[in-house]
Amino acid sequence: KKIIIAIDGHSSCGKSTMAKSLAKRLGYVYIDTGAMYRVVTLVALRKGWIENKIPDTQKVIDGLKDIKITFKWDEKAGKNTTFLNGENVEDEIRQLEVSENVSPISTIAEVRHEMVRQQRENGKNKGIVMDGRDIGTVVFPDAELKIFMTASPEIRAQRRYLELTEKGDKVNFEEILANVEGRDKIDSTRAVSPLKQAGDALILDNSELTREQQLDWAVNKVKE
Ligand code: C5P
Repeated sequence: KKIIIAIDGHSSCGKSTMAKSLAKRLGYVYIDTGAMYRVVTLVALRKGWIENKIPDTQKVIDGLKDIKITFKWDEKAGKNTTFLNGENVEDEIRQLEVSENVSPISTIAEVRHEMVRQQRENGKNKGIVMDGRDIGTVVFPDAELKIFMTASPEIRAQRRYLELTEKGDKVNFEEILANVEGRDKIDSTRAVSPLKQAGDALILDNSELTREQQLDWAVNKVKE
């Protein structure tokens, strides 16, 4: 029987890595909800709707109708590509500038409302792994399996640093650590759907776990 798996947790704690490999292992569809908020942020940056990390809320809300977000999931590779109106924006949405502006965008209630609507649409068919901040609490409160992931801020920043430098981005560790901690703070204190652990979520602190250990842990939980 196929189920819905909701994975929530702090920034850069490996949610998407785990969600992707779990989807691949189970033959499920993977939906990266952070990518959706990142696409809206990218549009706002391109259009000049954000100044000093403060978005022009009305412009962003009005702009939502012109944003079509789609994913292409390569099941064999276990990789996901994100498209904005058909344009491949996968690399651009991972850049630090987007990371630095995404949390303010994701505090806008109308933005969340529209993203959640699209996410539920995607989950109409079971057999889905979705990761984000509010999946187990808001998007799919009835998900059969909920996982809340976390790791220390230093470890998360270190992992993100390696990921970006491997891609050739010029980044600074302190800047990334500040971004990870800053996003945690905004995400967990915002008024609408703050990041919090669902009462029935299983906690996975992966500070000391390899990717294989995490995947095995999750696969066992699915079997249970
Ligand atoms: O998961 P990722 O780090 O790509 O998410 C980027 C940002 O998008 C988060 O810091 C958070 O502000 C926002 N987000 C959210 N709700 C989700 C997923 C992401 O508010 N379900």
